[in-house]
Amino acid sequence: MKPSSAPSDLIPRFQAALGARHVLSEPADQAPYLAEPRDLWHGKAAAVLRPGSVDEVATVLQIAAETQTPVVPQGGNTGLVGGQTPDGTGREVVLSLERLNRIRDLDRQGNTMLAEAGVILADAQRAADDADRLFPLSLAAEGSCRIGGNLATNAGGTAMLAYGNARDMVLGLEVVLADGRVWNGLRALRKDNTGYDLKHLFIGSEGTLGIITAAVLKLFPKPRERVTAFIGVPHPAAALALFDTARAQAGSQVTTCELIARIGLDFVLRHGADTRDPLTEPHPYYVLLELSSPLSDAGLRAVMERILMGAHDSGVAADAVLAESLAQQAQFWRLRELLPEVQSPEGGSIKHDVSVPLARIPDFIARASEAALRVVPGCRPLPFGHIGDGNVHFNVSQPEGADAAQFLARWEDMAAAVHEVALKLGGSISAEHGIGRLKRPLMEQIKDPVELGLMRDLKQMLDPQGLLNPGKLI
Ligand SMILES: Cc1cc2nc3c(=O)[nH]c(=O)nc-3n(C[C@H](O)[C@H](O)[C@H](O)COP(=O)(O)OP(=O)(O)OC[C@H]3O[C@@H](n4cnc5c(N)ncnc54)[C@H](O)[C@@H]3O)c2cc1C
Repeated sequence: MKPSSAPSDLIPRFQAALGARHVLSEPADQAPYLAEPRDLWHGKAAAVLRPGSVDEVATVLQIAAETQTPVVPQGGNTGLVGGQTPDGTGREVVLSLERLNRIRDLDRQGNTMLAEAGVILADAQRAADDADRLFPLSLAAEGSCRIGGNLATNAGGTAMLAYGNARDMVLGLEVVLADGRVWNGLRALRKDNTGYDLKHLFIGSEGTLGIITAAVLKLFPKPRERVTAFIGVPHPAAALALFDTARAQAGSQVTTCELIARIGLDFVLRHGADTRDPLTEPHPYYVLLELSSPLSDAGLRAVMERILMGAHDSGVAADAVLAESLAQQAQFWRLRELLPEVQSPEGGSIKHDVSVPLARIPDFIARASEAALRVVPGCRPLPFGHIGDGNVHFNVSQPEGADAAQFLARWEDMAAAVHEVALKLGGSISAEHGIGRLKRPLMEQIKDPVELGLMRDLKQMLDPQGLLNPGKLI
């Protein structure tokens, strides 16, 4: 049994450990940490803690273990499943990693960077760039999200196709355990077969097994040549065929293949400043296709032109435009990156982040759209995402002029209908955003009982008091 209220010396103990100004207890100071950007979840906290070192994180967890205080880790607070928000009891503390924001080391020869959990993703990318290297993890929240959060959620993003998930970009981890012990697993080795690979337990565990404080990240050669095309296609099957052709002709040089439904582009053109349709006629779907290479004379433009020519001749691509400058490249990317934010001015939006086997994407989009329209007639499905990874963000906007609250009240029915389609097609109900609070009730339905049992055993072993991010994931 956990105590129902915090012990009276809890805050003074945290203040003694971190310094009073890093223990936030005033509502105005706490506010930015208690709700997430879409304002779907709100919580209360006994305090927001901002440790400045690994030792301070360890002390916080020791105090939490002694006082049975639940701890909610938080990075950039951009997660989309409510994992970083405390519950409403006011008993939990939010542990913000934002002050652990140093890049401790960058090894150009070894192609590694040792970054603390609070480093903002865009800063990590910049540090790599300054060293003439690439840190490829890239997502629309990169100006705010932090490395610890990226790893705790095993983020995907737009470069997953070529470089993998966040998990694939890590060589070593430093983790503070629930009892305050520090595991120093900061190895920078590409080969190390010395037993269980524990880092993978913590990556994707959404703060439920330990607090990630630093990571050795892999760096890659910087692309010297990049060619970007914006292509109008008649339907998702054509987008898939285009991806197939691109992969056949350019192999691993295909670094991005993103799908955008016309309604998504409409929203972007309506609500995004300085945006314009790169093509003269509207098309039902678009593909943002990018090839890149570390060679400056890879001849990618000719390769892309061949791909587009073939796609045009076979009816797969209706129209296409190639970026002629870095500025135009950035414009194309902006059309994709604005998609998450331009949905809110259109009213309520019910989001799904699913993956299905690649060949089932067209089927999924068709069937999920029908299912969504059965739940709320007149709703506006907006499928987009990382089609090359089989990942569709199947978001559904409210019918025009409808009441947002009434529409959002159908979230569970809508999600059940969409998830049923994904599961029937052999897919997953969370491709890259994680489980958090949002999808936790679904774990019993979607996980094999043996798998779920093993997950619970691991949780019990690493966090026997259940203090790390309770109510999330498991
Ligand atoms: C506009 C937008 C676009 C996005 N695009 C993508 C995308 O393309 N691909 C994708 O995968 N995701 C995407 N996301 C969601 C994605 O999960 C986050 O943006 C990011 O990875 C989370 O990082 P964060 O630092 O904000 O973590 P937070 O939101 O603070 O936390 C996320 C989870 O990780 C835990 N956590 C945070 N830090 C630590 C730590 N140091 N140790 C242990 N646990 C920790 C939290 O408790 C929580 O459960 C997007 C989000 C937004 C708002």
